[in-house]
Parts: sequence; structure tokens; C-alpha cells
Amino acid sequence: AKALKRNTWQFFTPALGEASRERFAMDVGLRRALEHDELVLHYQPQAEVASGRLFGAEALVRWTTREGEVVGPGRFIALAEEAGLIHAIGRWVLGEACRQAREWELAGLPLRVAVNLSGLQVAQGDIVADVRAALHESGLSPSRLELEITEGFMIGHADEGLARLHDLHRLGVALSVDDFGTGYSSLAYLKRLPVQTLKVDRSFLDDVPGDPAGETLVAAIHSLAEKLELEVVAEGVERPEQLAFLQRLGCRYYQGELLGEPLAAEAFARRWTRASAL
Ligand code: C2E
Ligand code: CA
Ligand code: CA
Ligand code: CA
Repeated sequence: AKALKRNTWQFFTPALGEASRERFAMDVGLRRALEHDELVLHYQPQAEVASGRLFGAEALVRWTTREGEVVGPGRFIALAEEAGLIHAIGRWVLGEACRQAREWELAGLPLRVAVNLSGLQVAQGDIVADVRAALHESGLSPSRLELEITEGFMIGHADEGLARLHDLHRLGVALSVDDFGTGYSSLAYLKRLPVQTLKVDRSFLDDVPGDPAGETLVAAIHSLAEKLELEVVAEGVERPEQLAFLQRLGCRYYQGELLGEPLAAEAFARRWTRASAL
């Protein structure tokens, strides 16, 4: 992005701060990324704790710049939200993830693909039309698509957001709460959200097993989910001891580096096609 920055800086008065310049360069870069097909999805496997059987993959967006640098979503999603680009990016992600999942299904690698939604996509965009279009164009069955929302987005968008989630639920797609336990509204909204799955944030697993407080928290979330008849996906599982702990707990699904890191579609298929052909 350095060349780009040089080109854009000359339009600015010196008074403009470094941070604003950086953001402007990113904004310009992101628009170009969308136009020039520089976004790519990587897929991280999700499996059953008990059997190790693969059942899904989470689509995670990356931006490969002209200069060949791979920029992670942590560096551009928030900016895309501010710049109003998140709707276009989100539509691209939905379309591409559904297309890929359908292609894999036809090739004998049937998976449920999970797509991250920005709160703004739900609150301001026409998310229902976007999802419907992605399913229609790909031919993917709605039951093979899961949409991940974070708890935080419900703050401030409660009524409109909730109505959209119910619309999505009626389309037959699965909904999950991402980073569960890190937001403010978890418990209050849980009852009202039409979700089927809680993705337990990886921070809860940091000191598990071993730390009694950490273990108690994970067990409590698991039992809460059970009573509400929600599935649990434990995120960020890195060590065999963590997996063994989840097994003892009876937690259903997991995801993390222990199972597999996110891979580009081709590498993902190469790695997982044989493994899943049970
Ligand atoms: P997330 O949804 O919580 O995704 C999981 C993140 O944790 C991913 O980072 C993944 O690479 C990383 N991760 C997976 N397993 C492990 C592990 O065992 N240990 C550790 N330390 N990390 C692990 P990534 O791909 O950089 O994504 C960061 C965040 O960006 C995501 O967090 C999600 O909130 C957001 N994001 C990613 N793709 C999209 C997208 O298409 N749309 C939107 N709106 N947000 C996205
Ligand atoms: Ca492409
Ligand atoms: Ca996620
Ligand atoms: Ca997460």
C-alpha cells in the first residue's frame, strides 16, 4: 500500500494528521480492492468434539493488495464500516462463500459455511435481500449457510435488528452469536434472539484446563446453552488439553488452530476432502 499512499498524500494539506491520511489511503485501497477482485476468503474448519468429524467452515475475509501484502480483517473491517463500504464487502463475502460451499457440495465436500455479518449490514442494509440473492445465485440450500452476529450490534438497533434476524431465520439459514460472553447484552437478548448456536469466545479457553475460574465459566456457558437448547461452538482451541476438557464437558463443536488454521479455498479442499469422506 506504500505506493498508493504516496499517490494520495499529495492531495492533502500538511495539516491533515497521519491517522487521517492512513485512513484515506485505506478507503481508496478498499474501493479498489472491491473493483479489482483483491478480496479473498479463507476457510477455517469446524468439527464435532466427540468424533472429530468436519461439519463446517467459517469464511474469513482477507485483502491481498496489488503489492502482494495480505491484510487481515482486523485492519479493514472497522474502516469499511465507517466508510460505508461494509455493505458491498458483505455482499461479496456472502456471494462468494455461498458459491464456494455449493461448489464443494457438488464436488463431494458438503459443509455448512459460516459467514460473519457486521452489525451495520443487519441494521442498515437490506440483509435479507442480500442473503436471498446469494442463496439463489449459488443454488446453496439455506440450511448450509450460517450467519454469525455479535452480541454488541443489538445495542442501539434492538427492534429493527431483531426483526431482520427473524426474517433471516424464516429464510431457513442458521444464526449464531459470535464471541459470546464478550458483549454487554448477552443474557438479556439471548431469550429473544432467533439463534441456534453460541460461539464461545476464545478468551474463555485461555487458561482452561487448570484455572478453576476459567473452567467454571466455560462450564456455566455450556450449561446455559444446553438449557436454552442452543448448540455451542468453542472457538480458538489451540491445545489438546483444551479439546479434552471440552470433551469431558460434552461440548458439541469446536474450531481453532488445533483442528486447522484458515486456508484459501483450494488448500482447504485439498486438506479436507479426504478427511471428510467417511
Ligand atoms: P472471529 O469471527 O472471531 O474469527 C476468528 C478469528 O480468530 C480469525 O481471525 C481466526 O483466524 C482467528 N483464530 C482462529 N483460530 C484461532 C486460534 O486457535 N487461536 C487464535 N489466537 N486465533 C484463532 P481473522 O481471520 O483475522 O478475523 C478476525 C475477525 O474479523 C473475525 O473474528 C471477524 O470478527 C472479522 N471478520 C472476518 N471476516 C469477516 C467478514 O467477512 N465480515 C465481517 N463483517 N467481519 C469479518
Ligand atoms: Ca475472485
Ligand atoms: Ca466469527
Ligand atoms: Ca469469534
